[in-house]
Amino acid sequence: MLSRFVSQELIDCLNFVGGNWLKPSEELSQIKNPHTGKAIARTYRSNAQDIHKAVVAAKAVQKDWAQMSVRERAHILNQFRGWILENLTLLSQTISDECGKLPKEAQDGLLKGIEILEFAISLPCSEKLYKIPVSRGVSCEYKREPLGIVAGITPSNFPAMVPLWMIPNALIVGNCFIWKPSEKTSITSLLIAEGLKKSGLPDGVLTVVQGDKVTVEALCEHEDIKAVAFVGSTPVAKDVYKRATAQGKRALTLGGAKNHIILMPDADKETTADAILASFTGCAGQRCMAASVLLAVGEVDLIINSLVDKAKEFQPKVNIGAVITKESLNKLTTAIGTAQKEGAKILVDGRKVTIAKEYENGNWLNPTILDNVSPQSFAAKEELFGPILSIIRCKNLEEAIAIENKNPYGNAASVFTTRGDVAEFVSENASAGMIGINVGIPVPREPFSFGGINASKFGHGDITGEGGIEFWSNRKKITTKWIQQKSKNWMS
Ligand code: NAD
Repeated sequence: MLSRFVSQELIDCLNFVGGNWLKPSEELSQIKNPHTGKAIARTYRSNAQDIHKAVVAAKAVQKDWAQMSVRERAHILNQFRGWILENLTLLSQTISDECGKLPKEAQDGLLKGIEILEFAISLPCSEKLYKIPVSRGVSCEYKREPLGIVAGITPSNFPAMVPLWMIPNALIVGNCFIWKPSEKTSITSLLIAEGLKKSGLPDGVLTVVQGDKVTVEALCEHEDIKAVAFVGSTPVAKDVYKRATAQGKRALTLGGAKNHIILMPDADKETTADAILASFTGCAGQRCMAASVLLAVGEVDLIINSLVDKAKEFQPKVNIGAVITKESLNKLTTAIGTAQKEGAKILVDGRKVTIAKEYENGNWLNPTILDNVSPQSFAAKEELFGPILSIIRCKNLEEAIAIENKNPYGNAASVFTTRGDVAEFVSENASAGMIGINVGIPVPREPFSFGGINASKFGHGDITGEGGIEFWSNRKKITTKWIQQKSKNWMS
């Protein structure tokens, strides 16, 4: 399916506008397979003119799309759901090739995307479209309307799942969607656009514009784009929120994270180490829900020792994928060195990697566990975005919560305990939008929405579930009064 995009041995990451594949104005860079270091794709930057072309194409069809019955829109999304399931292997492999995670991890992300599609498809059955009589002859009802043309900007770590947080809900309510994928993982966007076209989506309803900062700024500035959703790092999320809202647009921008796990001495000895290991090593730690800091309360060495033994057994490419770029790898190895200088003890050093010759140029970092990390240190405070776990030793639960509360982010926080009162205390007091009780990656299932708080999110509401429907639409309140004629002559 990708062969049609290949020129001079590289995949060309083109724009998809009005159902046609177009070359954006400027060449940008290359995507290198994180497992091998080999260049696999050429990327482009769309400028303000490219964005305008995209908006014109979307505008030409938006009203027709909005007037199509919701049942027909749901049918197309359902076809697309089937297309993803039929092409799961190709999609998972493509995601793995461009962003480094293991194919199984890529598949899990796609299946999470399917959940959001299913939510959107079920909208005609699940929307609370109630109409209530107010007084004789008068009723009030809701009418949900699309915003028109909307845009979504997505990060490199989930090339399909995060766009699928946005696209189904934006489309089901009748918007045309302009998507700017990450320039580091643009290949998947070619497949998703093809899949939606094959599923019967009318040309122009989904537009893909490739690019970087320049493209994002042009999207924020275009007056016909009514809403902007963003997922990525916190500084950019903050900036995009400011830019979009300054132009009067609705905006919801999700940022980075620094997720804490509280490990209590009463935690289950059999299962806890595995759950913590999966949380900080899955997708090579490049998840906004990954554990980053372990707040070890009291005597928990049995579990930590087990965690260390299991982490040491990891093999790159088998148990853990690669990090996305050489720059990311260098940042992570430097951070480990800094942590050591700041007094941390390295329990597991992931910089020591043995790998087959053909993968020697890949960006490999094995699980790394740092102990006795100071709450004031770089490793404790910064989002490292790699398979590194920093252990901070705490005297009691109050101290652990105080450290968690000080971190500016607010995506996820988890506790491992067998005590209900401890779990209740953490869920009440942790400063995160998504809480895990004996769950290392507490991503809620749909229809429970996804969304953090504090510096992990700018704007109101959640990105999926009902939050997504609210974000991508207006809810009009209609009050109607019909006056019955005294004559009761129904035919005049
Ligand atoms: P990033 O912020 O570098 O890029 C995200 C998007 O913004 C990309 O499309 C990119 O092209 C664009 N962009 C980059 N710099 C920009 C700028 N200066 N101005 C405007 N646009 C710009 O993030 P990334 O490295 O692709 O993804 C990893 C980050 O995303 C991590 O911080 C991770 O925690 C976060 N993330 C958050 C969530 C969440 O739900 N909160 C989910 C996934 C990833």
